[in-house]
Amino acid sequence: MGTEAKGKRNHLPWLPVLLIFLLTSVILAAGCGPSMENSQEEGKLDVIATTFPPCDFARQAGGGHVQVSMLLPPGSESHTYEPTPKDLIRIQSCDLFIYNGGSSDTWVDRMLEAAEIDPAKTVRMMDYVSLIEEAEEGVIEEEEQEDGFLPSLHHYDEHIWTDPMNALRIAEGIAGRMGEIDPEYATDYRANAERYADQLRALDETFKEIVEAGVRSEIIVADRFPLIYFTTAYGLDYTAAFPGCAAETDPKPRTVAAIIQKVREEQIPYIFHIEFSNEKLADLVAEETGAQKLLFHTAHNVSREEIESGVTYLSIMEENAENLRKGLGK
Ligand SMILES: [Zn+2]
Repeated sequence: MGTEAKGKRNHLPWLPVLLIFLLTSVILAAGCGPSMENSQEEGKLDVIATTFPPCDFARQAGGGHVQVSMLLPPGSESHTYEPTPKDLIRIQSCDLFIYNGGSSDTWVDRMLEAAEIDPAKTVRMMDYVSLIEEAEEGVIEEEEQEDGFLPSLHHYDEHIWTDPMNALRIAEGIAGRMGEIDPEYATDYRANAERYADQLRALDETFKEIVEAGVRSEIIVADRFPLIYFTTAYGLDYTAAFPGCAAETDPKPRTVAAIIQKVREEQIPYIFHIEFSNEKLADLVAEETGAQKLLFHTAHNVSREEIESGVTYLSIMEENAENLRKGLGK
């Protein structure tokens, strides 16, 4: 009895250490930290994704066999990101590199053309889905043309992941490529992707049910509009202020007036803004009309706090579902 108690006492000091160790492992396994901060774990597939959606899809498909890092610093603007020389070295040394392939990461195409990245170890997300042209109708302000723009690339909207069924196709594509690079665990990657696909199908059903039950079938986005894949998937109408990748979100007076008029005339109770927005226009419209603001998080990027609190594409979209239920509800 006495010895047993003594033994227990002796073991007790280890408990907090063990707990800290376990917690740290959980955080590391959770992944999607900045690529510069993650130390490489022995024996795991080293995956780098440019932004949050592919980062999350990769950790869902990869499970415990991979370590996924995000290239874009948390909370930063994805459209103006340019890789640092250190980033390039990280990309060249990783086992799998995942990028979207739209107008925000033309730098990847330049690297591929210059043979600085091996195409065999990359996944281009836009290869896995049907592309939709950038919305013009329903978006009040036009895209400012920048110097050196590639019109052919700009033609298609890049925010493909906002449709959960596209997320499913991309996750399956990532799992397939992981299996090619790391055949030992190919069946695990496929099984993980299948499990994830079930969750995405459930999310898709939720959105369908919300839109069907809604009193309204239009959303007002007093912000940028990176949601053409989402609205197309669920047959929603929209009126939005700025194009999806617009750098400038200081609304022109006629934009403010148009949205206010629309909200007033149709007595629309809720308007949407997106994440990391200055919410200038949404605030103006809310003030003028009494409509309430709701967030539609397009998951373009997430903040450090969101990463630390363990957000996922699914958790973000489930919150969107609740806001959409409210927004369409009356
Ligand atoms: Zn964008």
